[in-house]
Amino acid sequence: MATGEIEHVQLLVAGTRISGQTRALIEPATGGLLAHVEEATLEHVDEALARATEAAPGWAATPASRRGAMLREAARGLEKRAEELARLEARSVGKPIRDARAEVGGAIAALDFYAGAVATLEGQVLPVSAPGLDLALREPVGVCALIVPWNFPLFIAVIKAAPALAAGNPIVLKPAELTPLSALVLGDVLLAAGIPAGCVSVLPGEGPVVGAALAADPRVAKVSFTGSTDVGVAVLRAAAPKIGRVALELGGKSSNLIFADADLDVAAPAAAAAVFGNAGQDCCARSRVLVQRTVLEAFLERFLEATDAVRVGDPLDESTDMGPLVSRSHQERVLGYIEDGGRAGATLLRGGGAPADERLAAGPYVEPTVFGDVASRMRIAQEEIFGPVAMVIPFDDEEEAVALANDVDLGLSGSIWTRDLSRAVRVARGVRSGALSVNSNQSVHVEAPFGGVKRSGLGRELGTEALRQYTEIKNVYIAVD
Ligand code: NAD
Repeated sequence: MATGEIEHVQLLVAGTRISGQTRALIEPATGGLLAHVEEATLEHVDEALARATEAAPGWAATPASRRGAMLREAARGLEKRAEELARLEARSVGKPIRDARAEVGGAIAALDFYAGAVATLEGQVLPVSAPGLDLALREPVGVCALIVPWNFPLFIAVIKAAPALAAGNPIVLKPAELTPLSALVLGDVLLAAGIPAGCVSVLPGEGPVVGAALAADPRVAKVSFTGSTDVGVAVLRAAAPKIGRVALELGGKSSNLIFADADLDVAAPAAAAAVFGNAGQDCCARSRVLVQRTVLEAFLERFLEATDAVRVGDPLDESTDMGPLVSRSHQERVLGYIEDGGRAGATLLRGGGAPADERLAAGPYVEPTVFGDVASRMRIAQEEIFGPVAMVIPFDDEEEAVALANDVDLGLSGSIWTRDLSRAVRVARGVRSGALSVNSNQSVHVEAPFGGVKRSGLGRELGTEALRQYTEIKNVYIAVD
């Protein structure tokens, strides 16, 4: 979609584009109309699931190498539309175009990875005591409903769709209300790569209607959900009566642990990027910045300098580091947390509101915001804000650092900055989190498992682990005389 055009985008039911209920999509940065999307009704959910159920046996019986070849073809399809998709993501979410390009690159890498990784799906021959052969076979789990949030709409859709399809399952993809467009392009690309029509539906729509119906429907064998912890609980409940398989990638409130021996010239700007990237709308955002007291002043000087250097602006401008938030209502929520931090006694060191720049008034922008004098139990330090808000909390020693990192009921991600390898290992073992990185901000790799502990989730995405989690084990014992 080129800037200025207003498109009317239909939903995709079992390979066919059709009309549904129209929703106007707003471009965050301008407040203008981006497109109209046709959303699914419950009849569309029913049709998509009926067709997926019919298609399941044929897709499961398709040789894995053939399924992999189609995914590789789909990767090339995304590659051809990469710049179009990056602009679409930048305009739909408000994320800087450079970040949107990186997201599309990640999606292509994930398709390529699962195109090859499908060859690693193997069962076992087990040495049972009874005479004969025992085969633990891996079979596709069945129809998979994939429910996706708005912050990384394409990447998250792909890291669910690629392993689910590779493992032999039809998919019904439910993008977020605000950002359905790239998922619909993905649907077209998967179909063009040869994946059977019944195996690909993309149903934009209201979460509590379309998403809830998918989660509860007995024809859905597995729901893979990424989103907020509260909705994750609702999905788990909806799938409970049928004992549905559920994978949950939920919220985070992760820590960046900065030890006195860290290279502060590297750690401080990285810590700023780890909370202001994607305007803080990142489940891995390390918003709790834990700093050893002896270097607090030196760290803060560098951290605030990096905060001041963040260029807030138009997402389509190549030099922009941080765009607007996704919507006005989300901006109000984030500003509400900032007010709450002030009331609780935290000291505002930077930001704290919408930018004064009039050119940014049309969008739901929030300044990069930093709080000092934060106590771990303050609401701003406990709840996921999902905005560009950092809170700096000092600690005295390693034991206190680990205790502070664990003083939240979420456990998704985090970083440890130190030059002492033994400390890095001790702290990594002590912090309860699904992913951690040492001297780096990166905790998502296509090749490595990713997911949360505590209230951050259930199950793992990415890597060959995700592929296995889209299968079920069937044990077949063959008696031999
Ligand atoms: P959200 O929970 O509001 O919505 C996520 C998806 O669920 C959307 O598609 C929505 O339509 C759907 N939904 C809403 N109600 C539903 C219901 N009752 N049943 C089924 N589906 C329903 O989340 P969001 O605001 O789109 O995204 C932000 C959240 O996502 C944050 O909490 C963030 O941490 C989380 N997230 C987690 C990860 C991760 O990998 N752990 C990655 C990205 C985002």
